[in-house]
Amino acid sequence: MRFLPVFLDLQAGPIVLVGEGEPAQAKLRLLLAADARVRWFATDGNHDVSRLDAASAERIERAVGDPLSADLANVIAILCAGAGDTGHAMAARARVLGIPVNVMDETAHSTFIVPAIVDRGDVVVAVGTGGTSPVVARRVRERIEALLPARIGDLASFAGRWRDSIKARLPDLAMRRLFWERVIDGPIGADILAGRVQDAERKLISIHDPVAFAASGGEGFVTLVGAGPGDPDLLTVKALRALQDADVVFYDDLVSPEILDRVRRDAARVPVGRRVGKPGIGQDKIHRLLIEAAQSGKRAVRLKGGDPFIFGRGGEEIAALRAAGVAYSVIPGITAGLGAAAQSEVPLTYRQEALRITFLTAHKAEDAGNVDWSALTDKKMTVVVYMGMTAAPTIREGLLTAGRSPDTPVGVFARATRPDAKAVVGKLRDLPALAEQVERGPAILIIGDVVARSAPWRNANPDDLISDLLMAAE
Ligand code: SAH
Repeated sequence: MRFLPVFLDLQAGPIVLVGEGEPAQAKLRLLLAADARVRWFATDGNHDVSRLDAASAERIERAVGDPLSADLANVIAILCAGAGDTGHAMAARARVLGIPVNVMDETAHSTFIVPAIVDRGDVVVAVGTGGTSPVVARRVRERIEALLPARIGDLASFAGRWRDSIKARLPDLAMRRLFWERVIDGPIGADILAGRVQDAERKLISIHDPVAFAASGGEGFVTLVGAGPGDPDLLTVKALRALQDADVVFYDDLVSPEILDRVRRDAARVPVGRRVGKPGIGQDKIHRLLIEAAQSGKRAVRLKGGDPFIFGRGGEEIAALRAAGVAYSVIPGITAGLGAAAQSEVPLTYRQEALRITFLTAHKAEDAGNVDWSALTDKKMTVVVYMGMTAAPTIREGLLTAGRSPDTPVGVFARATRPDAKAVVGKLRDLPALAEQVERGPAILIIGDVVARSAPWRNANPDDLISDLLMAAE
């Protein structure tokens, strides 16, 4: 490590910028975003601030005269960007005066370098490569961006606001550190990261005995996490973070092994799913397990296939948690219907052709018998059916009887986004046979004209009139 990262206090004095053109503009944007007072020597004499907003432009002192002889008293740093030879001369002068100087892309002339920056308010991460490769620095920054919650800066500001009053109440350093760990890793931290600052403040204020709070095991909470349809790369960044933070994960059958691989190594994993035809452990028992885990201070994740609120009983689970006074939050996932549609290129809506979507479940024939099929006959409606494999004959009958055309394109998308995905397409009249062709679930049925635009349809019908006509009509 040749360069030690330090953070400059930009309130301590002005920063001098020497240069012109796009390089100087880029530095202006950076300095203004950091609230710096900038004294700019434009080497071409043109202080172009036309691309800055008025308030920012006002914060720039447009310096005239020669920077090589200008007064540099109180200046905290000098940046040269697009300054040519003047930059080199300026660097020499800065060294004599002992002012930190950076000449863009010229480490040999610089006494400091400007890092790639992740800026989340009070939380700032600086990434440097010792001036060797700005591109590598940017790639590292992108990874860190993805790892850090968007509101991590709010968490730091929150702790900052309460720092002194907690310090007064908890003079013991070790106890204070425990206190802050409980706050930041527990429901209060989760509230801040979810944008619920007032809830967090209320919870913090309600801690009457900070020593007891710090010494307790800490409060647990439950995060309902949508795991998506199977491909682990379809997890959201938030979902991944929750899996990495969990003490215990209660997961459904539909959650793929590749996704369980992303769970923190030492987290306990508890299967709570039910397979079709076999009883699971029961919804009440699941509620009990979640509540017990949180009450014993654990960070519990309830990991569900697809999205927790789409045919996933997520609504019942949060009602049970609320009733038990357990803190929780919900992270959405990509529901299987959307995963299947994206993978097989079924545009679920399409200008003029498909204006509405219905998500429907038809688990058993009796469920399917309860569906009001007459509400699904609109030709411009795409129907996405969950758990519809065994009820496929009933679904076909229901739609045909209600008046939907037997020629309506349909697709059966099994194990969507997984390595063994299989899609078959055809007409509504053949739906039960199509469902048999995919061999096993889980599978989504999509019914509607847009299926004729899908990749499997195009592959199966290279000269198909329907798709040709549809394309020509565009
Ligand atoms: N909450 C889940 C749905 C749970 S219901 C979600 O939002 O996706 C279970 C049904 O989801 C299955 O019967 C099947 O219809 C569908 N499903 C789940 N994963 C699937 C996958 N990878 N491919 C196709 N269908 C899937």
